[in-house]
Amino acid sequence: MTTVQEQAIALRSVNHWIGGKPFASKSGRTAIVWDPATGKPQANVDLASVDEVDHAVAVAKEAFLAWRATPLSRRAEVMFKLRELVDVNRRRIAELLTMEHGKTVSDAMGEVARGLENIEFACGVPNLLKGGYSEQASRGVDVYQIRQPLGVVAGITPFNFPAMVPMWMFANAITCGNAFILKPSEKDPTVTLYLAELLHQAGLPDGVFNVLHGDKVAVDRLLEHPDVKAISFVGSTPIAKYVYETGTKHGKRVQALGGAKNHMLVLPDADIGMAADAAVSAAYGSAGERCMAISLVVAVGSVADPLIDAIKERMAKIKVGPGMEEGNEMGPLISREHRDKVASYVAGAEREGAKLTVDGRLEPASSREGFFLGTSLIDNVKPGMKCYEDEIFGPVLGVVRVNTYDEALRMINDNPFGNGAAIFTRDGGVARQFQFDVEAGMVGVNVPIPVPVAYYSFGGWKASLFGDLHMYGPEGVHFYTRAKVVTSRWPDPSTSKVDLGFPQVR
Ligand code: NAD
Repeated sequence: MTTVQEQAIALRSVNHWIGGKPFASKSGRTAIVWDPATGKPQANVDLASVDEVDHAVAVAKEAFLAWRATPLSRRAEVMFKLRELVDVNRRRIAELLTMEHGKTVSDAMGEVARGLENIEFACGVPNLLKGGYSEQASRGVDVYQIRQPLGVVAGITPFNFPAMVPMWMFANAITCGNAFILKPSEKDPTVTLYLAELLHQAGLPDGVFNVLHGDKVAVDRLLEHPDVKAISFVGSTPIAKYVYETGTKHGKRVQALGGAKNHMLVLPDADIGMAADAAVSAAYGSAGERCMAISLVVAVGSVADPLIDAIKERMAKIKVGPGMEEGNEMGPLISREHRDKVASYVAGAEREGAKLTVDGRLEPASSREGFFLGTSLIDNVKPGMKCYEDEIFGPVLGVVRVNTYDEALRMINDNPFGNGAAIFTRDGGVARQFQFDVEAGMVGVNVPIPVPVAYYSFGGWKASLFGDLHMYGPEGVHFYTRAKVVTSRWPDPSTSKVDLGFPQVR
């Protein structure tokens, strides 16, 4: 067997995409893209140098000038064409991302569908760019507002939705008239190059959309580059905070979405079967590597024991295996290190006083080659334990037992994360009160993963989002444009005179 370094030489290369074509890096730095289903390396991805970031920004800046002057309907037309191309190539996109991420193809098809919604929304962006017009704001004076693109904007995206999260960003950014630089996750980068090709086929002018692969070097240069006007980031909370603080310090507009710890509150009147179906689907789908995954069930009173039994029954039936194989429901984790980190939370749970009801490390799935880990269920989880406090981001579900709704609500609101929260009940009044009380950006009522549709916006509260505006939808359009207010008059020059007073309505 050769060493990893020797194997890497023979692997396929994943290059940047700059100015409408592939661009092979000269930085001399690459990272290995692993196949999570086999645990073997499958490609080398370029890691951009500072010079390459500067080159991509210069190309994008040049392309921006013509693109912002392109009629709105022409810009939207590219999205209409992209919509068709993504639609007919859904399976290809899904397979490409499964190959590197590891999730099942059927789950990846869902990711593509949710990304496509954002392209469809962007087809209607011209409607949202209509400004306001006030005739006769003063005598003979009209006032109107227009929204203009920012210039070169960048998106930095996580491994867990390698196609959807870029689509959340670039569809609106581009249609608003910006030029876009995508810095995808280096762990599953290939699908973004296919999206670049589809944008090219859709007629997008060269240089308006660019992909720069890279690590901290590329991110840091984008954060400080004076010609990058805005940064959209999605990833873990510590990096989101860093990106927000560094980007804003350099005068940029930043929206940085971070990690999560999503609670699912189950009241004693809930339908046990339905709640168990939802908890299992939302905790173990995509091996728990979703920012909207349910990682904690908060069981009120007597509901805990029957709910745990129903969850265990369903867990036993989950088919774990390579995402490319039809019929599997859960694939591997993204990397060996991440799998071991997730397993360490399972190992530590009992030491902290929780009860390991199902130990995923002992499940047959965990002995497969590749980065597989079986599903775990931890009972008696309490605030203060690491398995309660940390985002585990794996197939591990914790159960917290509480006595009352008020106790549950206090705990959820005290949690530093505030991405999503869900309630399962048959009582509409309590559900409405929960929606009113809970401190989270996205709330599900009998819905475990309340990811908003594309014509609303996506974003958490507290440590799950740094910045003001949520991502995609109307707030996305707002983020990628800035307002200009024009005050105009066309008086008869003969009436003109000097007036040193401050302008006021006459
Ligand atoms: P990550 O924070 O490790 O990486 C995100 C991006 O930041 C990648 O492009 C990566 O290359 C870059 N990066 C990593 N380390 C960096 C550093 N030190 N300096 C600068 N850039 C760096 O996140 P991940 O592991 O790819 O994704 C999983 C995380 O993303 C989870 O925490 C999950 O909750 C979060 N997430 C959040 C949302 C949301 O909408 N809130 C959506 C998806 C994922």
